[in-house]
Amino acid sequence: MKLSFYVLILFITFIVSSCGDPNEYRVEPEFTQYVQRFESEAAKRGKNFKLQTEGLIIEFAKLKNDQAGLCHYEHPIRIEVDSLYWKKISAVAGADMMKEDLIFHEMGHGILGRKHLNTTLENGDWKSMMCGGDKVDNRPWNINYRRMRRDYYVDELFNENTPPPIFTTTQLLVDTTGFAQKLWLSFDTGSKYDTGWDLVSNGDLTKEIENSKLKATSNYTSSYALLLTIQSTSINIYSNFLFEMEIDSETKSASDQYGLVFATSSAADTTEYFKINREQKMFPGNSAWYSYYTQLHKSAINTTGKNKLKVLKINGIIYYFINNVYVYQTEMEIFGRGSNFGFVVPGGATVWVDNLKIGIKSSSNIKSKVLSVNDISFSVVKMEDNNKRISEK
Ligand SMILES: [Zn+2]
Repeated sequence: MKLSFYVLILFITFIVSSCGDPNEYRVEPEFTQYVQRFESEAAKRGKNFKLQTEGLIIEFAKLKNDQAGLCHYEHPIRIEVDSLYWKKISAVAGADMMKEDLIFHEMGHGILGRKHLNTTLENGDWKSMMCGGDKVDNRPWNINYRRMRRDYYVDELFNENTPPPIFTTTQLLVDTTGFAQKLWLSFDTGSKYDTGWDLVSNGDLTKEIENSKLKATSNYTSSYALLLTIQSTSINIYSNFLFEMEIDSETKSASDQYGLVFATSSAADTTEYFKINREQKMFPGNSAWYSYYTQLHKSAINTTGKNKLKVLKINGIIYYFINNVYVYQTEMEIFGRGSNFGFVVPGGATVWVDNLKIGIKSSSNIKSKVLSVNDISFSVVKMEDNNKRISEK
């Protein structure tokens, strides 16, 4: 008996020395705050992890096949993060949330034992930050992991039965009445009162009136935004506003994205966009971010002809409408002031715009005077085609 006891000890010693310490804790400093956040979010939900003693390894690696992160079910759990991906997302707005999403996702696998879950909510948002693995309709993993949604996704991470928040339903939960029109460009005649934009052309971009619409033809290879800067104190994207237009396009590829944009008056600032394509996909986003917030499939999009796109900003939230159907809402990521409004022409595309309207939430203090076109100036701004897909995880 005594001999077999020693054999057992020797055997255990052999296992430990050959496989390493099952309670090893080795987390690169760059990941520490996300591990701490994971532990504190878990603790808020009655789950107490002591990973420093229980063990965890998170290290940088060179991952293959466009993989951002990889979880190895070893003792302890070992997570690899692609160093190139980490560096790439570090440079953009929203990096902190993207990093948290990745680390929480991998810890979801390793610490919580969660598998991939690729279902969607009523509004098209991913149901879970555990989305990944086998593609669904080739949809990118881009997830609108920000602000209100971040709280839901963390709840869902720790409890798969978390009910979806009401703002992810298709119910419109806000009063959208009371917007007074301040500007309407009909493009019915060549008069500046109807066209707004000066119908001048340079070699790469032509603007003209065709069949009572503004036609913009681009010879650029990448997307450009044609902006109206409104010199009026009554219109400001800092406040509540309405912005809509009918838009039609002829793009090189059905996947090319066109749509409307709005921004502050400073050239250094970012633009918020609402783009669609002919494949019935919608892309809400901000130009300073790594990519669009998420890609949504919307059957309200006409695959040929014009689409009416409308946004309403009410108390910091953008409400999106396609052909008068409410389709989505999310928080705006511009917090400055200004009044730039316009539309996006993809590289090599032709876009037609009609009935461009801007309105503000009226109150007794605001004069109802409709703006004169003399209050408008114009610019053309290059738009990064920031339609990158999030790497695999
Ligand atoms: Zn995964």
